[in-house]
Amino acid sequence: MELLSSKFMFDGEKLLSNKAVALHNNTVIDVSSKKVLEKVYSVKVKDFGEGVLLPGFVNLHTHLELSHLKNSLPQKKGFVEWLSSIMYEKTKDVDNKEITKHIKNAVKTQFKSGVRIIADISNTLASCEYLKTYMPYSTLFFEQYGLKKEKACKAKRNLEENLNDYKKRCGKLKLIPTAHSLYSTHGCLIKYLAGLNKKEPFSIHFLESSYERDFLISKGDMFDFLNSLGLIEETIHYTDVFDYMKKLGISKRKTIFVHCTYANKNEFENIKKTDSTVCLCLRSNEYISGTLPDVRTIIKSGVNIGIGTDSLASNWDLDFINEMKFIYGNFSDINPNVIFKWATTNGAKALGLNLGFKKNQTAFGVFIPTDNGNPLEEIVSGEGGYPSSADSI
Ligand SMILES: [Zn+2]
Repeated sequence: MELLSSKFMFDGEKLLSNKAVALHNNTVIDVSSKKVLEKVYSVKVKDFGEGVLLPGFVNLHTHLELSHLKNSLPQKKGFVEWLSSIMYEKTKDVDNKEITKHIKNAVKTQFKSGVRIIADISNTLASCEYLKTYMPYSTLFFEQYGLKKEKACKAKRNLEENLNDYKKRCGKLKLIPTAHSLYSTHGCLIKYLAGLNKKEPFSIHFLESSYERDFLISKGDMFDFLNSLGLIEETIHYTDVFDYMKKLGISKRKTIFVHCTYANKNEFENIKKTDSTVCLCLRSNEYISGTLPDVRTIIKSGVNIGIGTDSLASNWDLDFINEMKFIYGNFSDINPNVIFKWATTNGAKALGLNLGFKKNQTAFGVFIPTDNGNPLEEIVSGEGGYPSSADSI
């Protein structure tokens, strides 16, 4: 057991002062004053001093296996050009050693910035070894895609035959097959994936660009681009995105809707009805198209919100504090306490985890030095120090 304290503590909901926490194997045993805990447990408190102690951040969306693509993709040229570039990059033969070296660095960067749980999107499971070792509470979303029926059926067959082996390879890590997006994945494959294990969360890229809505009525630049590659065998016509999702069974599943850059009020209400989550990846949106989602409308809808960095194919770095700073820098009317809640408790909730500094919750001791009376504001405005913690990798 270890006892940790600092001048302030963010317990996942609110900021407290003069508190200490007793942790055992990442489970909170007790929270009280430093004096009381030392007396009850006869263990010396590790006091970090001036700053704030928090339970660890949850990066709700990243693609670690794309980390070698840093600075390789076009910035602010729009979604279709970015999509075309990433599809081209994925055809290249890249040395596995190179990929794993960059995955390792990406996990380290995130750990250093206070992240302890990652929801990683993976096509190859290349990140599994590192997450298993350094962030075992993480979830690996085994992402499937394929617009052509033949590819979609092949992906389905592969999962039917090999999912148990993949799960074994991931050990304690949660492995959940999921769909990339509505525009990249054949309806029959999405339906199969959404029906697999309804108790687990699902994750999907959602309305990241305006072309996605057009795609569902079989028109627009992205539809034309995918059609020009011969990927579209049948056309669909849905003016209401949720009508299509109902047909595919996603609306019955608790889902992490990633991006939502072009989603509207009705769609946020639908997301809320299923106790689902909106995952904001604002720097990725800025990188690809220079357009941010309507964050204030998302907040007003009351939906659960989490934060993701997305990958180095669409972000300058995977530093989680930088992601939070970017949110506050663009929406400074949001209370920093709210941003910290998105970054901890809410992200964990989306993954079915109970994170925070309350008895029986999961927590990690991450400390960020600050030097004024508003530590959370200080951190998101870029004036705080850098995390240090009770553990390291
Ligand atoms: Zn993504």
